[in-house]
Amino acid sequence: MAEKKFQNSLKNQMLKITLIPLSIMTIIIMIVSISGMYKLTSDKVKEELMREADLAMYVFDTIYVGDYWAEDSDGDGELEMYKGQQPINGENTMIDDLGERLDIDVTIFYKDTRLLTTLKDSEGNRAIGTTASVVVKRDVIETQKPKFYTNVMVYDQKSYAYYKPLISDDGIVNGMIAVSRSQESVQKEMLLYTMPIFITCILTAIVIGYIMVFFHRKLTNRISKIDNYMNGLANGNFDLEMPRDINLQDDEIKRLANEGKRMARSIKTLVEYDALTALNNRRFADKKLEDIRIKAVELGLKYCVCIADIDFFKKVNDTFGHEMGDHVLREVAKKLKAGMVGKGTAARWGGEEFLLIFENRELDIARRELSMIMDEVRTIWVPNSDRQITMSFGLTALEPGETVDSVLQRADENLYEAKETGRNQIVCK
Ligand code: GH3
Ligand code: MG
Ligand code: MG
Repeated sequence: MAEKKFQNSLKNQMLKITLIPLSIMTIIIMIVSISGMYKLTSDKVKEELMREADLAMYVFDTIYVGDYWAEDSDGDGELEMYKGQQPINGENTMIDDLGERLDIDVTIFYKDTRLLTTLKDSEGNRAIGTTASVVVKRDVIETQKPKFYTNVMVYDQKSYAYYKPLISDDGIVNGMIAVSRSQESVQKEMLLYTMPIFITCILTAIVIGYIMVFFHRKLTNRISKIDNYMNGLANGNFDLEMPRDINLQDDEIKRLANEGKRMARSIKTLVEYDALTALNNRRFADKKLEDIRIKAVELGLKYCVCIADIDFFKKVNDTFGHEMGDHVLREVAKKLKAGMVGKGTAARWGGEEFLLIFENRELDIARRELSMIMDEVRTIWVPNSDRQITMSFGLTALEPGETVDSVLQRADENLYEAKETGRNQIVCK
């Protein structure tokens, strides 16, 4: 029978059992640790921006005393910004230095309008005169509270930003100070922290996956080999070798293999041996005959076949009982078996008939050997009686190319002639 392809083989099942949980675990660990890292970085950026906003305010407050205010003093329609008595429009050097050192953008708003800022467009023009987004105006100016954003538009760029209202001594919101970092730069930093986690998780999962696959492959390979062995056994192949690597581990699979071997031996005994005489049985002899027929043709080997029958065996049974008959059968079988050692096979053909197969022998040699076996049988006596056991033999050579039936028929005819012409003799043709 051809080996069956499984719909869901053990290998596939083991792969699922190991790799699916491993993948899920890896993904969960990655999600938890990366989102934790994301939160940590976000908190860190928030803290930094708050500190930096305070620092920027401190720097301005230290250098210029007084509140922030603005007016269009020269009447050109553009507001000039003051801190105390000091006009601070155009004080870009200080704000740029601050931004560069802290790697952030710093903006000072009058109300919601940028009057001093490090923000520039792609052509390098400062974002002076542009306004804060509506959300910021509502959250910071109207409520007079500082606010941190992780995703706010700062001059056309998505940013992390911290806005702090600038409140004068009399409690009026004059404007805001804003420090911001573009989302892109924060994300780069996050990537820097999360990439090692990501790579470690993936590499660990690959190594663990490889180890799991390595061990379960070893296991499933051994089970597959037992499956092959059992398949052979089911097809009547009792002499298959059990692959050695199945026994390398002392485990249930090794025991299964040993039980398989024992089962093969038991089945072989049941199928190929005769229970009474312990000789090979007729089923085995049939197989053997077909075997030698092929070998005679393919390899040109010589074989001789003999059918042997105990003389007047019925009388033994009738006179001494069936059990004594069985005893005689066993004694005869022993003599035949011993006589055929190194020559070929002795099998119980049925009842008190036996089949002898002489291998690699010409007929005259086989005849001589058979005559010695016949003498040995003559030494058997029914215990405590004067009944000697003798046999008649029909011997013939297997002609290359002839069928098993044909050679058996000739051996049978010879046996018949031996019986008809006095028994206790060999007829050989
Ligand atoms: P012949 O010389 O012509 O062969 O005479 P025979 O008595 O041996 O031949 P026959 O065929 O008449 O008798 C064979 C007997 O063998 C009949 C049967 O009861 C007996 N027999 C067959 N199998 C067994 C067995 O397993 N045990 C015993 N005790 N007797 C068996
Ligand atoms: Mg008979
Ligand atoms: Mg007989």
